[in-house]
Amino acid sequence: MQSPSNSAHHPPLRAVIVTGGSRGIGAATANLLARNGYGVCVNFRDDVEAAERVVARIESTGGCAFAYRADVTDEDQVRALFNACERRFGALAGLVNNAGILDRQMPLAEMTVARMRRIVETNLLGALICAREAVLRMQRSRGGQGGAIVNVSSMAARYGAPFEYIDYAASKGAIDTLTVGLAREVAADGIRVNAVRPGLIETEIHASGADPGRIARLRTTIPMQRGGLPDEVAAAIVWLLSDASPYTTGALLDVAGGR
Ligand code: NAP
Repeated sequence: MQSPSNSAHHPPLRAVIVTGGSRGIGAATANLLARNGYGVCVNFRDDVEAAERVVARIESTGGCAFAYRADVTDEDQVRALFNACERRFGALAGLVNNAGILDRQMPLAEMTVARMRRIVETNLLGALICAREAVLRMQRSRGGQGGAIVNVSSMAARYGAPFEYIDYAASKGAIDTLTVGLAREVAADGIRVNAVRPGLIETEIHASGADPGRIARLRTTIPMQRGGLPDEVAAAIVWLLSDASPYTTGALLDVAGGR
């Protein structure tokens, strides 16, 4: 479908890439961004049907989006993702570094190095590569128009997830550090960098950790007595990405029902 950004009748859309935009928090964020008038690149790695469902839903309500397969751990694929987004919507205005995985719960002593590598490469290296590509394109000193990056961390960064997934928690702790450091590095160059730290959110990620009943089990430990919804995290992400938060950078925003 032709993008309205190429039409003389519409102003250019503000282009945003959502990594892991095909499911869960990323899909909710892609939806809300489109409703707010952004052109959204819905990145995914495996599940093309899920990504196409997100795009179809956005288009059915008059929004603009397209799906693009890229593994965030692969530098060449990430470059191709960013190039495709710029071809489609023009200059990049934002990145939501959302793609992330976890694995089965176990103590660190039982984890294989292959698993640790998979977690760290997806959650941390992937976010670093995507952040670099975004900065290269958005920095005013390089001819960009400025922009915003929102990294999706986790409350696990604070708790450390003992006996569950210390590898995951450590990768998210590093996301917090990336957020604070990069925010300071590019603040004078027109780019804001923030993070959200979701608590227990109702998505498929818990099933991928072999614990689909996790939120029901832990519900009473959440001050609000319920898990969060992807839309509730998306609202925070879109606010941080938007011009409604012009003086907020380097912030870590907990979206966790008080947990
Ligand atoms: P989810 O429902 O499992 O969705 C994960 C998304 O990431 C999918 O779109 C998946 O695409 C994509 N993805 C995975 N590996 C990728 C890769 N290498 N390259 C590109 N895309 C990749 O997860 P979610 O719960 O929405 O989580 C989203 C983010 O929120 C993650 O960073 C997670 O750590 C964080 N978070 C979630 C919770 C929670 O309770 N749900 C809490 C705190 C933080 P495919 O399906 O195509 O592989």
